[in-house]
Formats: sequence, C-alpha cells, structure tokens
Amino acid sequence: MLKFTKINKENPNKISAKERVKSFDEIYSKYASLKAEEQASRCSQCGVPFCQVHCPLHNNIPDWLKLTAEDRMQEAFEISSSTNNMPEICGRICPQDRLCEGNCVIEQSGHGTVTIGSIEKYITDKAWEEGWVKNIEPVEERNQSVGIIGSGPAGLAAAEELRKKGFQVTIYDRYDRPGGLLIYGIPNFKLEKDIVIRRTNRLKESGIKFELNCDIGKDITFEDIKTKHDAVLIATGVYKFREINLNTSNFNNVVPALDFLIASNKTGLKDKVEDFTNGRLNANGKNVVVIGGGDTAMDCVRTAVRQGAKSVKCLYRRDKTNMPGSQREVQNAIEEGVDFQWLTLPTEYSGNGSLKNVRTVLMQLGEPDESGRRKPEPKEGTEKDLDVDLAIEALGFEPEDLPKLFDHNNLTVTRWGTLKINYKNMMTSIDGVFAAGDIVRGASLVVWGIKDGRDAAKNINEYLENNYADKNNINKKAVNV
Ligand SMILES: Cc1cc2nc3c(=O)[nH]c(=O)nc-3n(C[C@H](O)[C@H](O)[C@H](O)COP(=O)(O)OP(=O)(O)OC[C@H]3O[C@@H](n4cnc5c(N)ncnc54)[C@H](O)[C@@H]3O)c2cc1C
Ligand code: SF4
Repeated sequence: MLKFTKINKENPNKISAKERVKSFDEIYSKYASLKAEEQASRCSQCGVPFCQVHCPLHNNIPDWLKLTAEDRMQEAFEISSSTNNMPEICGRICPQDRLCEGNCVIEQSGHGTVTIGSIEKYITDKAWEEGWVKNIEPVEERNQSVGIIGSGPAGLAAAEELRKKGFQVTIYDRYDRPGGLLIYGIPNFKLEKDIVIRRTNRLKESGIKFELNCDIGKDITFEDIKTKHDAVLIATGVYKFREINLNTSNFNNVVPALDFLIASNKTGLKDKVEDFTNGRLNANGKNVVVIGGGDTAMDCVRTAVRQGAKSVKCLYRRDKTNMPGSQREVQNAIEEGVDFQWLTLPTEYSGNGSLKNVRTVLMQLGEPDESGRRKPEPKEGTEKDLDVDLAIEALGFEPEDLPKLFDHNNLTVTRWGTLKINYKNMMTSIDGVFAAGDIVRGASLVVWGIKDGRDAAKNINEYLENNYADKNNINKKAVNV
C-alpha cells in the first residue's frame, strides 16, 4: 500500500470518442488484474477514510482496496458486497468525483485520487466471472410477506435484504422488465443492460417474485397490495417530467427525455418500438436540441449522437461550472461532438404543424437566488433562432400524485409531492407502509436508492418482528400470497 508517491493514477482506458460513438457499448474498458492490484496499492490507508465517510453506503473502501492489492479477490468481494447490493453498478455510474473519490486524501495532496469506482467495478465483475456471486439462501423461511412497488435500485436492494432474512417478497412494476431507471433510463454506454439483467435474474432465482406489467393504481389497487402483504414498500421513483411551457402541445417532435431514452434502451434490447421505427423518438439525420443541464440531458445528447443525428445542441441557462450533472459526463459529451450552448434559454417554439425553430436568448448570471445559486437573467438584444427537427426536454422529474393514483388520501406527501416518512423508521403515514428512494428524496442517485432500500428492509424487518411476533412462524395473511 501507500504506493501513491511512486505509481501514478491510471483509469481504465477510455475508447476514443471517434470510435465509441459508433456503438452503444460501455466506453471504459476493464482493468487487467495486475493493473487493478497496482492501482489499489496507491491507497494511503489513512486513519480517517474520508472516501468511506462520503460514500452513501459507507463502503469499507480501504479494506477492499488492500485486499485487492494483495490479490485476495474473493475476500475483497465479500467485504464489498456486504455493504452494497450492486457494487459493479455503482462502480460504473456513481458520480465518484462528488462522492468517494472527491474526498480521497491523496487527491488533496496532489497525487490524483485512488480510482475507487473502477476498482469496485473490477472486484464484482471478477466475482461474477468466477462464480462467487451466489443466489440467496435464507437460513429460515418466514411466512410473512412484503410487497414492494417499484423494481428500481431502492426496491431491488430492499427485496434482496428482506429475502436474506427469509421473507416472501413480491415486487410489482408497471414496466415489462425489472430494474427501473437502471434498465430503461440510463443508457447502455454508461451501464450495459446485461449487468442489470444478471442482477435481477439472481433475485428471481433466489425466490423473489416479480409481477411485471402491473401498474399499481390501475391494474391492481393499492388497497389490494396492502391486504395481500404484511408490509408494503413504495419505491416508485419520480416520473412526472417538468415541462418548459413553450406552447408545445401541437408539436409531435417535442418529446420528453425519458420517452426518448426508454425508446432507445428498448430498441437496444431488441424490442420493437413503433415511435422509434416511425422516427418520432429517433434522432437519426436530425438537428437535435436538448434542453437541460443534468445527467438526463447528458444521456440524451450522447444517445442522439449515437443514433446518427445531423447536429446535437445542448441548451442550458447557466454556465458550465453551474451544471448540475456530473462533470465527467459533460466532458464525455463534449468529446463526442455535442455543441453546448451555455447561458442560453429557449423562449419560443415555432413551426407549422411540427417544430421548426427554437428562439433563444443569452443569459447572464445575476445575484444568488434563494437556493444560493446565481440567478440567470436574460440579456436584451441577444435573441437568435435555431433550426430544429427534434427537441428533447430534459428539465427534471417530479413525483406523480401518489395519494390520487393509489386512491389513498391519508398517504401524506411533502409540499414537493414526495412521500412523507418518519425518518426514524421510514414508515409513511399509513401503518406498515414504508417508502424509499427517489419517491422520498426527489430525483437522486442510484447509490442513495440502494442505501434507502437497505435501510427500509431493516425497518420492515423490525416492524414485522415487533408487530407480528409469531413464534411458530404462522401468519394468516401470508397463506394467501
Ligand atoms: C436518464 C437518467 C440517468 C441517470 N443517470 C444516473 C447515473 O449515471 N448515476 C446515478 O447514480 N443515478 C442516475 N440517475 C438517477 C437514478 O437512476 C435514480 O436516482 C434511481 O434509479 C432511483 O431509484 P428508485 O428505485 O427510487 O426509482 P426508479 O429507478 O425510478 O424505479 C422505480 C420503479 O417503480 C416503478 N413504478 C412507478 N410507479 C409504479 C406504479 N404505480 N406501479 C408499479 N410500478 C411503478 C417504475 O416503473 C420503476 O421501475 C439517472 C436518472 C435518469 C432519469
Ligand atoms: S458506492 Fe459509489 S460512492 Fe460508494 S465507493 Fe462505490 S462508487 Fe464510491
């Protein structure tokens, strides 16, 4: 260990921009084992591991780095997977620059951070290759059942933890595949879908039931789910997209970001998507404008490039430093030829039947607003028109109206529409109904979803043990499940 003074930081190779835009494959290659060992040995094993403090899961990073450096890979895997249900996924898509790596001590001393994310990915990819990732075999089966609404990272992590304790778990999802945004939101070039599918398959093989194409509130009532199970977890994420209100109603070629990304991901999974085939959700040959500056916007611009767009512009009303998305992804998009128009606000859509032009105005940053960020203000006389064949709106997501959707007015929400929970036990205003992930936090990160799912599972376990203490393990409700 402590080799950071002799060995330079080296990330796995990134495929050149020219090559990588030809496909949807992941853009980083894998470490060879010796390289992973070498890079792990750069860790300084500092007394207070700030990387661990700033990882939402408090992963035991220094420990698994040391084990990797010593080529004790199976032990590294055991430690890594004891705190994280999907380490190889977090290793790929966490914004490490803001979390673990952003707080690495050797980075502070100018040596370049330990490549924590890439090593985390390496450890668990290797574990899958070696067959160390086993199905869950609970020590005892319990009759109590838990219904989980939503199969994103929060729902999946909770399901795994509950299954380990022997509960009967059913996950309900309105989509036809499990994974939430892991499968249909995040593009393949950041996270290949096989990686997600092998995780969800393992859960199926471990006895977790998946009820797919099952929209709670439409196909089954929430009340039914509540009656069927001893406890319920709501992990439905946030899906109501924010609109820009530029009078888009008549324009078929102004589309929400998630529709565009879902169509692309489904096509990649060999599904037939009519709106992709008919061109509505396909950027091929088009002048594309993406509005927004977050991770979703970055995923859209990079997807449009790969679909063969004629030009791709990203309009963002603040400057590059103030972009909310990961700087790593912004850099990747720049390399791939995206034309960023910073400090640019769209003010009007125009066209005849379909959108032809987006009028924009330049902005300048004024005094900080209530959020502490400098407020963008329009600069007079800077209007210009852009030719557009496809406009993609990526302005973020809000929660759906769950009390209405679930026909349960006593499900309490915050003023932002997220579910209100008791932070001590993660229970909503309804007894035995818990909530986790984006539906509680608002749009967040995969790693926070996993953390919440794990915490929710712990609380559900305690709730069921306290409320349904049944020494003989007999529970009437569960008999019907
Ligand atoms: C385009 C995009 C890119 C992103 N990139 C990154 C990234 O690179 N790194 C990162 O850390 N985070 C990223 N995120 C954020 C991350 O994906 C989310 O924070 C995370 O997936 C939230 O997990 P979740 O389990 O709470 O919800 P979700 O993943 O949204 O899963 C919720 C599930 O609930 C289901 N559902 C909803 N309502 C119902 C209902 N009524 N009945 C049945 N099922 C229902 C949905 O179909 C979905 O499958 C990205 C988000 C987007 C949109
Ligand atoms: S889970 Fe994310 S933040 Fe935590 S160590 Fe892994 S990459 Fe870093």
